[in-house]
Amino acid sequence: MSATYEISSLGTPASAPRATELHARPSASFDAKLAATDALLPQAAADYTPVTQASSLGAEDVVITHLINALGLDIPVFVLETGALHPETLALLERTRASSRAPVTVYRPVQEAVVQFVAREGQEAMYRSIALRKACCGIRKMEPLARALDGKKAWITGLRREQSAARAEVPAIDTSEARVKFNPLSDWTWGDVWHYIATRGVDYNALHDQFYPSIGCQPCTRAISLGEDFRAGRWWWEDEAAKECGLHVKKTEGSPA
Ligand code: SF4
Repeated sequence: MSATYEISSLGTPASAPRATELHARPSASFDAKLAATDALLPQAAADYTPVTQASSLGAEDVVITHLINALGLDIPVFVLETGALHPETLALLERTRASSRAPVTVYRPVQEAVVQFVAREGQEAMYRSIALRKACCGIRKMEPLARALDGKKAWITGLRREQSAARAEVPAIDTSEARVKFNPLSDWTWGDVWHYIATRGVDYNALHDQFYPSIGCQPCTRAISLGEDFRAGRWWWEDEAAKECGLHVKKTEGSPA
């Protein structure tokens, strides 16, 4: 079941409390969930090498990277730098690359493909149709993702069941496709994620302090307000059912993934 954002966006960013203060509310079973995640990540490293973490540098993903480093696991991390990320995300990327024990590799789109697409369709093509938005995601995300996952037996994501109706059935280990997907935070709540960040002093994206619970590319992400769904700020001009970029849509559902 998806949940909604529980605080108001009223007030200026300068006067607003930090995301850690607003959201760090562990569920009653937080310790058990953390123990399960602590066990799952080493299992992924032991049984599915080569395995890698896909990080968007959002709240869930910084928790996972922190756990990989804290547990001393040989799990490299990759980030898709689409060329359209917020300055805050790019700043966190640099801090993460500097501080992470696990290697952090950046994958970028083929520049010629981006230039040709923008020249043909314009900078704001994604707003004109779902097809054009998916074409942009295909060039900037899906093609680099394919390179990042090439040769990998498994990957690790920050998907949580609470994030949206489309993710309500996300399992901890998804074996439905040839490449296994680990979702170690699948049953964590938003409060659990922020409890971990607050109590471990994990570095996070400054956009989370500006009411961005879900962070993607700059043209396709906005802040949200009280009562909105977690992913309401992503591709907000589209119907809910279309709101995946393809990274986490199954092949059988017609995605480019
Ligand atoms: S999220 Fe938006 S800017 Fe980023 S790749 Fe997709 S359509 Fe393009």
